[in-house]
Amino acid sequence: MDLIKDLLWPRRCVICHKLVGPDAERLCPDCAAAIPEPISGARRGSHYRRWAAALWYEGDCRASILRFKFSDCRFYARYYGPWLAKAVEERLGRDFDLLTYVAVSPLRRWRRGYDQSELLAQAVGKALGMKPVSTLQKRSRVRPQSRTLGPEERQQNIHGAFRVRDPEAVRGKRILLIDDVLTTGATVSEASRVLLEAGAKSVDVAALAVTQA
Ligand SMILES: [Zn+2]
Repeated sequence: MDLIKDLLWPRRCVICHKLVGPDAERLCPDCAAAIPEPISGARRGSHYRRWAAALWYEGDCRASILRFKFSDCRFYARYYGPWLAKAVEERLGRDFDLLTYVAVSPLRRWRRGYDQSELLAQAVGKALGMKPVSTLQKRSRVRPQSRTLGPEERQQNIHGAFRVRDPEAVRGKRILLIDDVLTTGATVSEASRVLLEAGAKSVDVAALAVTQA
């Protein structure tokens, strides 16, 4: 059965998508060596305290994340999770009470069959020994941030996009918020805003990848 599977869907590296041997790890040595040290830096957006990321959103990493989000490569989370957990531990520490994620809208989740940030949060949680909790609900009317223009338009587009499911669950909590890609920070900033408004003590952001500027 595995042989047939390997013939039909030969194993490819999760990052560069080149073929690897049938028994090999799905991460080629070149890409394994090119995984950067955890990234963190000046704040993008506001409301949250700090951010950290595992990868730069460019080149093969960008293509990999697009396959993860849009081409049903959901098993990539197994690889991404430990990288992101390392970024959290090294740059943000472990003092969190609650692990949650920036949810996609119910319509998008239904169309795609999964929520990539939820999968990421589960994989990160496995590495950190925390169980992710779904705290945010996204409204379906919001346009995808990638289809909007500048930072101001992104901020405007996302305002009011989230509601907190159960304020009791976030009250007084130090929250670790997982997202897939950090660009201007408008999305995680808005998500952080509603979490703080619902009574969260603090929000730190961990994104799988971050854009250069
Ligand atoms: Zn590779």
